[in-house]
Amino acid sequence: MNIKVMKFGGTSVAHASNINKVIDIILDVNNKSDKIVIVVSALSGITDDLIMLANLASKGDLKYKIIFQAICGRHDQVIKELIDLKNKKRVVQEINEKYDELEKITANIFSAGELSLSALDAVMSFGERLSSYIIGEAIESRGIACEFVDSREIIKTDDNFGGASVDLEKSHKLISDHFKNGTLYIMGGFIGSTKDGQTTTLSRGGSDYTASLVGAALDAAVIEIWTDVDGIMTEDPKKMKNALLIPEISYEKAEEMAYNGAKVIHPKTIRPAVLKNIPIYVKNTFNPRGSGTKISNR
Ligand code: ADP
Ligand code: ASP
Ligand code: MG
Repeated sequence: MNIKVMKFGGTSVAHASNINKVIDIILDVNNKSDKIVIVVSALSGITDDLIMLANLASKGDLKYKIIFQAICGRHDQVIKELIDLKNKKRVVQEINEKYDELEKITANIFSAGELSLSALDAVMSFGERLSSYIIGEAIESRGIACEFVDSREIIKTDDNFGGASVDLEKSHKLISDHFKNGTLYIMGGFIGSTKDGQTTTLSRGGSDYTASLVGAALDAAVIEIWTDVDGIMTEDPKKMKNALLIPEISYEKAEEMAYNGAKVIHPKTIRPAVLKNIPIYVKNTFNPRGSGTKISNR
């Protein structure tokens, strides 16, 4: 079976117009694979906003309500632009339930006057929970069936909130059971849950790692990390104008660059792919015809 995992980062899903570019990329390959799992990050900036929301609430600062409204507004705008009229009511209802849940958690933090790491993870998880649900519905609005998966049901972790370790054995089994029959799925990156169901996060930038965990568990043919630059470059292209694209790189070198701060790929992404010898491609959502970087054992 030809299985593909495609992860789209924050800038790729920043707003409706970028999300449409992402859906174009998915539709272009949808018929060429037996199964595709899409992993998405939060809309760009939303994780930072959620952290600010939780911090303000814990300090008793009512400005948290302004941040809350701004977060909802960003998602409402995507729904307004991308969801079919016939599905809008249902999607808005579902989203409002998620907003209510976030509001309750934040109000509790406000009353407690303190922010535990577990409460912060619960708040941060809404970035990916909202984006994955809405983008899944946006794909359906373009006429393609896409099954939504709650990542917390298949990514099982310890309770090291903020940087939880994944229980690989348990998660692999849940992942391979969960994705058995369908052809196109979407899930949020970055989040998981403990064995008693508490929401956890895998550390900042962790959606790349989610994609590679899923790819390894499914024996995917390829894992694709779609981001906002052409691939792995010799240096951060935002800091060094003359950074050059690296067309091919070994797992070891890519891992070393990631551990040394090349944010384009989360350092934990490499290991699961190495164990199954799955190539990882890093590609640009805004230049999809570009060759990107291939990370493999070569
Ligand atoms: P995403 O939201 O898609 O996960 P990130 O912001 O996490 O994207 O990672 C992409 C960013 O990584 C690029 O915009 C770039 O500024 C930065 N970056 C740092 N080092 C490198 C590098 N060596 N090659 C490419 N990009 C890099
Ligand atoms: N949204 C999370 C973050 O901003 C995870 C990710 O983007 O990979 O860190
Ligand atoms: Mg990233």
